[in-house]
Amino acid sequence: MSHEFRDRGPRDGSGPHKVGQVKEVTSLANPIVKDIKALTQKKSREETGAFMAEGLKLVIDALELGWTIRTLVYAKAAKGKPLVDQVAAKTVAAGGLVLEVNEKVIASITRRDNPQMVVGIFDQRWKSLKDIRPIEGETWVALDRVRDPGNLGTVIRTADAAGASGVILIGETTDPFSLETVRATMGSVFAVPVARATPEEFLGWVKKAGVSLVATHLAGAVDYRTIDYRRKPVVLLMGNEQSGLPDQLAKEADALARIPQEGRADSLNLAVATAVMLFEVRRHLLTLSEAR
Ligand code: SAM
Repeated sequence: MSHEFRDRGPRDGSGPHKVGQVKEVTSLANPIVKDIKALTQKKSREETGAFMAEGLKLVIDALELGWTIRTLVYAKAAKGKPLVDQVAAKTVAAGGLVLEVNEKVIASITRRDNPQMVVGIFDQRWKSLKDIRPIEGETWVALDRVRDPGNLGTVIRTADAAGASGVILIGETTDPFSLETVRATMGSVFAVPVARATPEEFLGWVKKAGVSLVATHLAGAVDYRTIDYRRKPVVLLMGNEQSGLPDQLAKEADALARIPQEGRADSLNLAVATAVMLFEVRRHLLTLSEAR
């Protein structure tokens, strides 16, 4: 064990915890800190199947939703706060590791000057496409080769807000578990199932799933406000930021929808177009409830 760890076992002096430990770390050279920092690289996230989420609220929400926490990192300044102590206790009880670090370490992990006081390292969770069987009232969003982490995170957040059931990533896409994407989801990454598929797998699944495939296209012939979204579960298909939807996907759609535009802009931003569509597709299902 490296020298910068100080195990703090039970107060009765019976030694360090065997399962779920609390360690104090002050060095950036600490191997655990290095492993956590490596999670900013896609390769390391793929190898470990882990990812990082910042902020106490996010960590609390994730634990409530049953996500598996591997490591909880908190800044010394947060120590003793009841909610921080609670998540630390939950992490230890779940067999995870708790790291108490100084501000320098947490800033370096999150690559921020004003870092969050709490960071959680969680197991990634992918929904399997074959397990998705949409039923009446469900809407799924399918994104073709989405490139921008901010767009993907915003789509996941918007899907959550509109009550969509999940997001399907088609082809080579940006990683939903990157730090930038997770930040942009504002916590919705823990609430919205995400699946991935090749174009062929996606089209094979659509054929069997009994859904209405509504694709959005700048050359779409149908005004998106005229489509009946009530008849079947809807899969809303959105194109890549640069090149839009390829013919391979567009030609399989039940409708090619367009959002009418004025002005000089060629197109809407992908996440904005997804939001416009989602709230229209689900308009008949969304109601104002009590103030939240
Ligand atoms: N240059 C791309 C093109 O030619 O399609 C622009 C892609 S746009 C930034 C990204 C995606 O947002 C599009 O593929 C489409 O799915 C959707 N989108 C954006 N504006 C739209 C509109 N006015 N009507 C329908 N879909 C739109």
